[in-house]
Amino acid sequence: MPLLKSWVESANSPDTDFPLNNLPYGSFRAEDGEAHCGIAIGDMILDVTTLEADGLVQMDDEDTVFAFGDWTEFMSLGPAAWAAFRATATEMLAKGAPDAEALTAYLVPQAGARMLMPFMVAEYTDFYASKNHATNVGTMFRGAENALPQNWLSIPIGYNGRASSVVVSGTDVRRPWGQLKGPNDDLPRFAPCVRFDLELEMGAIVGVPSEGPVTVTEADEMLFGYVLLNDWSARDIQAWEYQPLGPFQSKATATTISPWIVPKAALEPFRVSTPERERVLLDYLKEPGPMLYDIALEVGLAPEGKPETVIARTNYKEMYYSSAQQLAHHTSSGCPMSVGDLLGSGTISGTTKDSRGALLELTWGGKEPVTLDSGETRNFLEDGDTLTLRGAAKGDGYRVGFGDCTGTVLPALDDPYGGRK
Ligand code: MN
Repeated sequence: MPLLKSWVESANSPDTDFPLNNLPYGSFRAEDGEAHCGIAIGDMILDVTTLEADGLVQMDDEDTVFAFGDWTEFMSLGPAAWAAFRATATEMLAKGAPDAEALTAYLVPQAGARMLMPFMVAEYTDFYASKNHATNVGTMFRGAENALPQNWLSIPIGYNGRASSVVVSGTDVRRPWGQLKGPNDDLPRFAPCVRFDLELEMGAIVGVPSEGPVTVTEADEMLFGYVLLNDWSARDIQAWEYQPLGPFQSKATATTISPWIVPKAALEPFRVSTPERERVLLDYLKEPGPMLYDIALEVGLAPEGKPETVIARTNYKEMYYSSAQQLAHHTSSGCPMSVGDLLGSGTISGTTKDSRGALLELTWGGKEPVTLDSGETRNFLEDGDTLTLRGAAKGDGYRVGFGDCTGTVLPALDDPYGGRK
């Protein structure tokens, strides 16, 4: 598909994340102090909440859909409404649109806009579905012999995470305290996390609710869009707590998502297949066609007051299981899904050392530090470090991206209980 041209000139640049082909959904703090729904176009935001209030956009005969200022209500209208609205927005912003002049009053610069959570996270599930990542982590935690758990090639492994700590890009993340126990310690102690880490992931957002099991095809149709996702991880807490029921507090501090939800429709031209199956999947997990997307991903790390170094580059197509397969598996027991369910893909790692999506892997458990452009080294994150995830599908002369997904590490509190006993 070629670049679709917009009358918003900045949207026609090959470098923008937000050409007319994209039209991602976000929320921002408007001049009136309220949360508004917006669509990114070039370096601007189209204020959809005000458009609706002024009667220039109408989704529902009776009710307002965008007045609350996030996209949850819109998602609940379903795929036909998503497609109709996307067609309207594309027409409004296309080069030569008759209303272009009137619409300029509804454009807000992205620079300086405060972004807010674009939807209400109903529940959050995180998976473990990149084979390179699972092999690397398994090798470190259990040895090369037992790297991939026996179930891994059959099940998209996941755990139920916390919706309450999902935050939007730009939110600072405080280093947590937790139970730590070194291999030579007799007993654990309660102390600040030393091995604080990131996980480079994609998040898929469920826009259609379900009751009972759904097929992979149905699951794919339930997905509204995708975000970048950083699943902050306290490795020292994780190592002590994770057996036998998996991670708990090590993953509960925060999960950061990109400010923009890229609609599934914008990613369709970039579909690719999951890799060849090494073990035949059970029928309910088999894919009818290509279910992944070719999305280049990178992680930048900037120490406080210093320039950023890109520490990893990989691609979403490195996943072994697609989001549709993960969602199908999630419902296989009859588990109902809700509008706003968020599914983390799991850390995405490629085959080469510089394509690993977590410091745990990049530094091989902290033993091989990463050297930054400033000359500093990192085993794990230090206070003041700012992480930025970026991602884009690359078309012919344009890109479909997510905007920066950033977070800065704040130092642990001296006493997380503030003296309370
Ligand atoms: Mn994760």
